[in-house]
Amino acid sequence: MNSDSNRKHNFSAGPCTLPLEVLRQAQQEFVDYQGAGMSLIEMSHRGKHFDAVAVEAMALSMEVFQVPDDFSVLFLQGGAMLQFSMIPMNLLTHGQKGAYVNSGAWADGAITDAKAYGDIYTAWDGAENNYTRMPTSAELAMQDHTRYLHITTNETIGGIRFAEWPEVDVPLVGDVSSEYMARRLPWEKFDLVYGGAQKNLGPAGMAVIFIRKSILEHTNRDLGRYLRYDIHEASGSMFNTPPVFPIYMFGKVLKWMKKQGGLAAMETLAAEKSGALYRAIDDSDGYYTCPVEVACRSQMNVVFRLPSEQLEQKFLSESAQVGLMNLKGHRSVGGCRASIYNALPKSSVDALAEFMADFSDNNARTNG
Ligand code: PMP
Repeated sequence: MNSDSNRKHNFSAGPCTLPLEVLRQAQQEFVDYQGAGMSLIEMSHRGKHFDAVAVEAMALSMEVFQVPDDFSVLFLQGGAMLQFSMIPMNLLTHGQKGAYVNSGAWADGAITDAKAYGDIYTAWDGAENNYTRMPTSAELAMQDHTRYLHITTNETIGGIRFAEWPEVDVPLVGDVSSEYMARRLPWEKFDLVYGGAQKNLGPAGMAVIFIRKSILEHTNRDLGRYLRYDIHEASGSMFNTPPVFPIYMFGKVLKWMKKQGGLAAMETLAAEKSGALYRAIDDSDGYYTCPVEVACRSQMNVVFRLPSEQLEQKFLSESAQVGLMNLKGHRSVGGCRASIYNALPKSSVDALAEFMADFSDNNARTNG
């Protein structure tokens, strides 16, 4: 159990652990928001209360994530997955191509959807090495007339991340869903950065998108209005009813991040927490194995295997009994996965590392 109340150690891949103090604040002001006699989610999104919430969340997101002024932030519904379609719809014009790095399950999803809307090619495919690493820049097979290179900076299922940013002659578009606001980005390389909120940013129900303002002059206009970035940007993400509750919670998470020391503190914490788990794996004499190449190991989603599937089952059931929850790997790959997002306390990671050491001591490989 987590020391604070009876909350468990929650290693869920998303939706996932949120800061306890944020949950408590939301609970406290939920029924009667700032003396208005109604909840924030019962009010008009065009009223003064929600307007203040949205304006603050926008400003804080730029500040905390250290985003330069030549970007705008958008809060849209449809999750990260709608962006898989909106990106090619909006960005690919006049015979331009979209280049994609196929780094695993989520990149593959982005490629599948983009193909419905434009001329897409795979600049590098990780299938040959079973998606255990990211490409070097030299391995990217870029073609002429490429508008952008799409990367999934962290693959949530495979547990790999780009440690080195690709050096290419075209702008990057990045799906940062599972490492949002956990590391600094080289903004000069990006035209667009996006992700679902339900990991590091708040509850499910919205995507947060940072888009370079100058590209909005050239995006496609022959789209349904909700699908147009320029319309959302011009209306301050108020073109239709925005996801009010996720925006409200995101604002609180941003304040929490700022209080912890901002992006630099999140980076340090991510390195410490992931370091502790990779050490538990590497020091286990091969009992636990991580399939990912060391340089590309994710700092948010730590994947590992045990000597046998029987031992994995036992590990999952015994860990849950002591309050270490949601350690099962994604159903498509099996094994174990610890998602250790920003709000997961270091003490939860320490509890897991200790459990791993005890489990390997008490369950000989031959048992499997
Ligand atoms: N990209 C990545 C890297 C993800 O991890 C996920 C969800 N886990 C998605 C995209 C899809 O996000 P959503 O469910 O918000 O559409």
